[in-house]
Amino acid sequence: MSDPKRPCLEEDVAITTFRRYLRINTSHPNPDYASAVTFLKEMAREIGLGCDVVELSSGLPVVVMSWMGSDPSLQAILFNSHMDVVPVFPDHWTHPPFDAVKTDNGDIIARGTQDMKSCGIWYIEAIRRLKSEGKSFKRNIFITFVPDEELGGSNGMKLFVQLEYFKKLNVGFALDEGVANPTENFWVFSGERTVWWVEVTCTGNTGHGSAFIKDTAMEKLYKIMTSALEFRKSEEKRLEADPSLTLGDVTTININQIQGGVQPNVIPSEMKIIMDIRVSPHRDIIAFKELLNSWVTEAGEGCSYRFVQYNDVIGLSPTDDGNLWWRTFSSTLTAMGEKFIVSVFQGGTDIRFLRMLGIPSLGFSPMNHTPKLLHDHDEFLNEKIFLRGVEIYCELIPALASC
Ligand code: ZN
Repeated sequence: MSDPKRPCLEEDVAITTFRRYLRINTSHPNPDYASAVTFLKEMAREIGLGCDVVELSSGLPVVVMSWMGSDPSLQAILFNSHMDVVPVFPDHWTHPPFDAVKTDNGDIIARGTQDMKSCGIWYIEAIRRLKSEGKSFKRNIFITFVPDEELGGSNGMKLFVQLEYFKKLNVGFALDEGVANPTENFWVFSGERTVWWVEVTCTGNTGHGSAFIKDTAMEKLYKIMTSALEFRKSEEKRLEADPSLTLGDVTTININQIQGGVQPNVIPSEMKIIMDIRVSPHRDIIAFKELLNSWVTEAGEGCSYRFVQYNDVIGLSPTDDGNLWWRTFSSTLTAMGEKFIVSVFQGGTDIRFLRMLGIPSLGFSPMNHTPKLLHDHDEFLNEKIFLRGVEIYCELIPALASC
């Protein structure tokens, strides 16, 4: 009987590399970055790529592989992935999550198969093939492997893009992660929503709980909550009415905390709520802030709000045919017969740090016919889908590095 942990003789080298990377346990809270770095350095040496390990001020490493082009004056292409993965609950897995078992039908089961060790190995294995065919291109190509993404990237990509080292890479265009799609389509993300946590405070007249006191804090808060929930309803309806929209295209508001009151028979002088707002990049941010202001001022005197968390809204990367990067990316996929949907990512990834610098960037993981299992139990990717991904990057890399 064959051992499912063992590569079989005819296994593609790309699959073997992928499974080796998956077996390195880089899950939080103690990701084994040292072993990941050692493995990636070995890969770079094997394929013949330059390789730097940049230590960030957080003490965490970034691995930067390089394949220099014939015209280094041109802007470079960056292919990014994160080395870390989220924790696992092994009891809920059908196979140990860091064994990278391959089942009879070719499903590779491991944490990180979708999010996102697949991308890192797609880049490497596509370049292995291109180099073995003797190819070379005009633009510099950089492949980065960053830490800390699953904790928000403050100790990873956020620090990396501030370095002089990064500026010298002269990145013109970047690719980073997307998500799996159960249909024949791929997702391509041109932007992400922005997180705002807003604390609203209402003050008002107090008195005995048996009386009709005027202008209470609760009445004012009720008005603001009604405005917010009406807006929420209208966005929900808009999403449901238009099948071309996804969650990332609309703005969500959820009132997730309410604080106030001292005892049942005393009208409180102060009430608070905290709202979790995810602002779509399609929304006019000035108009939306004015709307928020109007809800609070119209509720009456003694109402105010503050941002517990504020982030500037980052615009979408261009997806019109006037843009060289987009035209090259999309026409390459189309020429391969692949179908894709352009959308806004509902969560947040490291790519926002590049978009903040004005670098056009897309989120793309070529995983179709695959259930979305990032951060879930039994995360898997089928080897056929994975190998098609290598072929896709074998077309995308030359196209982007030559355009
Ligand atoms: Zn990820």
